[in-house]
Amino acid sequence: MILVLGGTAEARELADALDVQGIDVVSSLAGRVSNPRLPGGKVRVGGFGGPAALADWLLEHEVSAVVDATHPFAQRISASAADACPRAEVPLLRLERPGWSERPGDRWHRVAGLAQAAALVPELGRRVLLTTGRQGLAAFATVADAWFLIRCVEEPEPPLPADHQLLLDRGPYTLAGELELIDRHRIDLLITKDSGGHLTEAKLDAACGRRLPVIVVRRPPRPNVEMVTSVAGALSWAEAHG
Ligand code: NAP
Repeated sequence: MILVLGGTAEARELADALDVQGIDVVSSLAGRVSNPRLPGGKVRVGGFGGPAALADWLLEHEVSAVVDATHPFAQRISASAADACPRAEVPLLRLERPGWSERPGDRWHRVAGLAQAAALVPELGRRVLLTTGRQGLAAFATVADAWFLIRCVEEPEPPLPADHQLLLDRGPYTLAGELELIDRHRIDLLITKDSGGHLTEAKLDAACGRRLPVIVVRRPPRPNVEMVTSVAGALSWAEAHG
């Protein structure tokens, strides 16, 4: 059986493709989203309880290979997989979509983390479209003189910026929709993680179209494991290990 660590569109695509080919696949979700889009094949939900417990789980369920297709900013589960797989002597592949690239006309400011992003707000904007997800928003709680439109999939945990509006949405987004959102709320600054992928890319095109500055949070460092950037690449690897 192949274990796909999921929570991304690529993980769903991979599990669907393996399932269609009759390869035994189980997708693992963290359980953060109340109504997740489910892939084909089996699905399990919730943390494993750390690397040692994950290694036990792999042995108990006779997993032949693991594809870590989690989000580029999901650091702990990737570290856990990189620790657990060698312990259980199960091969591990990382599937990670490429990051976004700055193009002519973009006004990007790359930063190392959410605290650095928050520190840059006062010099770049007053009406901020904040799309970094529901976690870590406390970093923006003390930013003065700025209004935030916080867009995320699930209700975020407080503390949040004093002056904000919440927009619960999970995309995918269109250029027309993003332009309309920017104009309606008179947004003058976009903040995003470098998540990559096409499903949430329209906000960058819209920001470029309106000449808005964009604060882009760089990806965190990853464990050193074999990696592919496409679902097709992960599929070939998983077929060979299924
Ligand atoms: P994280 O910080 O790396 O993980 C925290 C803990 O949640 C892990 O230690 C693990 O618990 C559990 N976990 C995470 N992903 C899991 C999975 N796929 N299956 C089983 N357990 C999992 O992760 P996160 O940043 O909170 O992200 C949670 C999930 O949301 C991930 O699956 C990720 O792909 C998805 N996601 C994250 C982001 C983001 O910006 N971080 C964006 C979109 C989607 P145990 O240690 O108990 O095993």
